[in-house]
Amino acid sequence: MFIESFKVESPYVKYTDNAIQSVYNYETTELVHENRDGTYQWVVKPKTVKYEFRTDIHGNACWMGRKQWLNPDWWIWVMDILRGVSWATKDKVQQANYFGSLTQASTIRVGSYNGEEIYAPFKSLLPMVNPEDIVFGGWDISDMNLADAMARAKVFDIDLQKQLRPYMESMVPLPGIYDPDFIAANQGERANNVIKGTKKEQVQQIIKDIREFKEKNKVDKVVVLWTANTERYSNVVVGLNDTMENLLASFEKNESEISPSTLYAIACVFEDVPFINGSPQNTFVPGLIDLAIQRNCLIGGDDFKSGQTKMKSVLVDFLVGAGIKPTSIVSYNHLGNNDGMNLSAPQTFRSKEISKSNVVDDMVSSNGILYQPGEHPDHVVVIKYVPYVGDSKRAMDEYTSEIFMGGKNTIVLHNTCEDSLLAAPIILDLVLLAELSTRIQLKAEGEGKFHSFHPVATILSYLTKAPLVPPGTPVVNALSKQRAMLENILRACIGLSPENNMILEYK
Ligand code: NAD
Repeated sequence: MFIESFKVESPYVKYTDNAIQSVYNYETTELVHENRDGTYQWVVKPKTVKYEFRTDIHGNACWMGRKQWLNPDWWIWVMDILRGVSWATKDKVQQANYFGSLTQASTIRVGSYNGEEIYAPFKSLLPMVNPEDIVFGGWDISDMNLADAMARAKVFDIDLQKQLRPYMESMVPLPGIYDPDFIAANQGERANNVIKGTKKEQVQQIIKDIREFKEKNKVDKVVVLWTANTERYSNVVVGLNDTMENLLASFEKNESEISPSTLYAIACVFEDVPFINGSPQNTFVPGLIDLAIQRNCLIGGDDFKSGQTKMKSVLVDFLVGAGIKPTSIVSYNHLGNNDGMNLSAPQTFRSKEISKSNVVDDMVSSNGILYQPGEHPDHVVVIKYVPYVGDSKRAMDEYTSEIFMGGKNTIVLHNTCEDSLLAAPIILDLVLLAELSTRIQLKAEGEGKFHSFHPVATILSYLTKAPLVPPGTPVVNALSKQRAMLENILRACIGLSPENNMILEYK
């Protein structure tokens, strides 16, 4: 059964006009490796830590992404335009929807009632910004208006394009920071809308753009998300970008090795604007992470987890969790959109290869029965540019595993999907959840004052291929664990225990 919303009634939760406050007992374990009677033993001690959460319920946000630019004087909200839109396809009359968005189209279990499981929208857990209230803006190194860009992308049905064109043809992106050294040479032709000057001047321009956008649109929060081309990796060099001081000094000196995405990120951290990286490159060089931590500004990434990797982080989790040993994982992709063209250059492909390569590490290292220390399945990723298939990306995967008594099991998947339509709802979720997480404060027992989450936002990892984590923090790639982490943290904010699936009431 489905319910639209619910309220928690508990001595541990208080709803006020401005905030939801909760007290939450975090049940965890402490591990000790100690010498008992002459032999070392692992001892697990259950431990309870009392936390308090406080969620500010006033949310009003806007998003300056790369592609979606909305003329601020218009006061039109992009999602508002889409609401209620319908268009004819050859199959049916299609309504606009949010399918693929965790926050807008998925549910959580709230309990059972009269023997039935009760589910509510994920977004009913905590007050989140309504997508229809977001004002969009952005930068692009190409000055093509959004209606023409939509036509060139060949993603939306033609009947929908016709309805959107009048709203979109006067939307032109702001000039962006362009450095041909960081993206494929084949992108050079579109770079006709660029910010001139030194790196410092470029960052100053981005800061000015953000301030003007905020002022004109009267929004109190801005979130910036990089969904521009994949860049090559920046070299991480001691003295150049390894610490905050070195990065800022290099930026003053106009050092060539600071990428455009890192420049946008610097501007955002200076302005205390959350910055999310939807592409695979190392925008967050150590000096930038250091800067974000020093200024307590949210950063999150890297690379949207939309298709093939999402499947991988489900399938390998299932196999290893079932005691089956994946020994070879081979992933071929071909796609024909501009992302595919940019990735046809070896240095940008390398960024994608890196972000796709470590996605099974946590699952493999979780099972020492199947894998010896250091042992790893063969894992190969190939991406080819095939213009004819456009945005309809093909992903072909072969998983070979060892099963009982030396048997072999091979699973082959062929996944065809419109790449952009998988990514767009994830972009929306990243923005909504980043904004929400800036409104949550917590403190553990014994901590004097409330503080925000660590600025490196691991809470977003369900949505990213190579989750960025603070130094010394485990990386979790398994999709079900990532979702449980996010859901359970939001549940804690309203004083609900984690979803444990025990259903003891019926045992
Ligand atoms: P795209 O090539 O269609 O769009 C990228 C846009 O960025 C272009 O319009 C380009 O002109 C612009 N651009 C390039 N450099 C810029 C800069 N320095 N400043 C401002 N604008 C700049 O690509 P896409 O398909 O929209 O993908 C965007 C990114 O998202 C890629 O890095 C891609 O790998 C990543 N990604 C996409 C998916 C997906 O679509 N399913 C999944 C994971 C990651």
